[in-house]
Amino acid sequence: MEDYRPMQTIAHANLKEIVERIAQRMAAATERGKPAAYIPELAKVDVNRFGIAVAPIGGEVIAAGDAEVPFSIQSISKVFTLTLALEKAGDRVWERVGREPSGNPFNSIVQLEYEKGRPRNPFINAGAIAVADILLAGRAPEAAVQDILAFLRDLAGDDSIGIDASVAASEARTGYRNLALANFMRAEGNLEHPVADTVEVYFRHCAIAMTCRQLAKAGRFLAAAGQPDESQAAVVSQLRARRINALMLTCGHYDASGEFAFRVGIPGKSGVGGGILGSIPGIASVAAWCPGLDANGNSVLASKAFEELAQATGWSVFGPVPVPSDRD
Ligand code: GLN
Repeated sequence: MEDYRPMQTIAHANLKEIVERIAQRMAAATERGKPAAYIPELAKVDVNRFGIAVAPIGGEVIAAGDAEVPFSIQSISKVFTLTLALEKAGDRVWERVGREPSGNPFNSIVQLEYEKGRPRNPFINAGAIAVADILLAGRAPEAAVQDILAFLRDLAGDDSIGIDASVAASEARTGYRNLALANFMRAEGNLEHPVADTVEVYFRHCAIAMTCRQLAKAGRFLAAAGQPDESQAAVVSQLRARRINALMLTCGHYDASGEFAFRVGIPGKSGVGGGILGSIPGIASVAAWCPGLDANGNSVLASKAFEELAQATGWSVFGPVPVPSDRD
């Protein structure tokens, strides 16, 4: 066991070195994937970007590369909308969406019909649209969007977080599949509000732009058993944080969730903007971003960065990993 160590905090200076080394390697990588093309505005983002930020519990954020550049958080927003929906509706959320990995692409329609309009989980598009419908109860669409923004600003301690209007418009113009999902759920009685209102909330929260630093800070409550900081009130209960982490691990990367667990072993949520938010329970939250995607719609280099981080730190919910040598 000498060559192994359990999950533990890493001294600031060492962690900084690890994070900076990862950023340098990712900046130099040549296999970078391709930005999402089905949302035209996302296809314009420079694939050479790479950013990473680690927010240790009770510690200072460590950031490297393009960690201060805002990007489209896309499906990562679904972690925060689920959190808000659970706070608003409690376990009734699970009457509308399941908690099982889908084993299908994020925008798949076929499973939804088999399963009578109840999406497999809150992180595929259909599930997040149902969650948006829950957030709309008693709220106008714009108010529901502002609730989500306020939540993120509060978590990140940063009022500058906003929506990229051109991404939201681009998605609304081309979001035929999402409209199909929403219409189907409405037909099955699993949407309570007009389809146009529900997808408006969905498109707009997907178009929220954040930096790696902001995102890592916003996600820290998940790693910190619901309470990001001792001086602040809990965001959610310990049990709820644990359950959201579980869903991130099992469903956070769509039909590549198993692969991410296998390679990285950290609860994570990806978005087609190229970001990944990771939660390392008891230790830290991490955000990494590079716009180039693989065939499943997950960032090639953000995934790789997580894999290298897990190897270098020993951070994995599945137990110790070998301490790497000094060689790359
Ligand atoms: N807004 C995107 C969509 O609806 C979100 C997908 C994603 O990030 N995987 O297609």
